[in-house]
Amino acid sequence: MADYYEVLGVDRTASEDEIKKAYRRMSRKYHPDIAGPEFEDKFKEVNSAYEVLSDPDKRRMYDQGVDPNDPNGGGFGGAAGFDMGDIFGQFFGQSFGGGSQGPVPRTQPGRDSLANVTIDLRTAVFGGTAHVDIRTMALCPDCKGSGTANGSSPVTCPDCKGRGFAQKVVRTMLGQMMTSAPCERCEGHGTIIESPCPSCMGHGRIRSKRSVGVSVPAGITDDTRLRLASQGEVGECGGAAGDLYIDVHVAQDKTFVRDGDDLHCWIEIPMSWAVLGHDLDIDTFDGRRGISIPAGTQQDDTVTLDGLGVTRLRSQGERGDIIAHVVVVIPRKVTDKERRLIEEFAESHDADAESRHVSQGPKPRQAGKPRGFFSKLKDALS
Ligand SMILES: [Zn+2]
Ligand SMILES: [Zn+2]
Repeated sequence: MADYYEVLGVDRTASEDEIKKAYRRMSRKYHPDIAGPEFEDKFKEVNSAYEVLSDPDKRRMYDQGVDPNDPNGGGFGGAAGFDMGDIFGQFFGQSFGGGSQGPVPRTQPGRDSLANVTIDLRTAVFGGTAHVDIRTMALCPDCKGSGTANGSSPVTCPDCKGRGFAQKVVRTMLGQMMTSAPCERCEGHGTIIESPCPSCMGHGRIRSKRSVGVSVPAGITDDTRLRLASQGEVGECGGAAGDLYIDVHVAQDKTFVRDGDDLHCWIEIPMSWAVLGHDLDIDTFDGRRGISIPAGTQQDDTVTLDGLGVTRLRSQGERGDIIAHVVVVIPRKVTDKERRLIEEFAESHDADAESRHVSQGPKPRQAGKPRGFFSKLKDALS
C-alpha cells in the first residue's frame, strides 16, 4: 500500500489545510505538462493520495490500514463496488480501529486520585492546613518520565515502521479482508524502548507515597470534597498529572456539637446556681470565656456567647455563636444538714405547691425552639 502521507510529504497528523497546501505544491511539481511525461505515474499517485487524505472517511479507513483506492490489493478481496465504510461499520461497529489511527503516544494523561482526611472541629472553625498521606503514581526521578535508561531515546519499531499497527487478514462472510491491529512488538506505540529505565521498567512513573498539605477553608462542613489541580496520578511516561480530590471529614468534638455555624454545648450546674445565678468560665476554641447564669435559670435554658462559633464559609471572618444549654443537676444524696435546709426552704417557698400542679401535661420546654432540635443533637451525639 502506498504511503499517501509520504507521497504528499506531510505528517500523519497533518490538518486538512496542510494536506490541501501540500497537494497544490506536489501537483504543480509533478504535473506532466511541467515536469515531463515521465512523471505521469507520480502525478497520478499524488492525486490518489489527495483523493484519500482529503476525504475524512477515506482517510480514517486508510489510517486503519485499508486503501480505499485499491479494492483488490489493499483491502477487500472481490468486494469492489461496495461502500466500504458501510461494510466496515456493519462488521465492526464503532469499535473498528478504535484507537489504532496511527501510533498511540507513550505519554498518556494521568488519572485523578481521591484521598480522605479527617480534621478536628477547631480546624473547621478557623481553617488551617491538613496533612494527607497519599499513595499515587509520581514521575520517575531516574528517567524524569522518559522511561528510558541513561538518557537514551525510544527507537522506531522495526515491525510496524512507526505506524503502531500491523495489518492482519481476517476471514469474513465476504471472504478475506485486511484489517489492522495494534502492533504487538511496540504495543501500538510505534516506538520501542530498547533499554528501559530500571527504576520504572519503562513506564516513566513509580508508585510513591507523599504527604500533601491541604489548605482547609474556615467554616468547611463535614464531607466536603476539595480539589487540588494536577496533584493526582502522573500519567504513563510522564504524562500530565490528574487532579487530586480530597474528601474532608470533620471529627466529632468532645465538647461541642455543630449546627450550621453555631456550636452547642451543655453545662451542668447545681440547683443552687440555677436559683441564685452564677458566673463561671468555660473552655472555647478562643480560650476560657466567662458566662453568666442568671438567677432563676430553668433546665434547658440557654446562654449564648456571641461570635465564638464556626467561621461562616466565604465570609470576612463572621462567626456563629456558642450556645450553652443549662443542665440543672438535682442532688441525689444530701447530708442531714442539707436536708434540714431544704426542708426549711420548702416550708417557706413550696407551701402552696400542691395547688400549682400541672394538669395538662408538661409545658413545652422552651418557647421558640423547634422540638426536633434536641433529638437532632442527640442523633449527632450518639
Ligand atoms: Zn524511570
Ligand atoms: Zn510496532
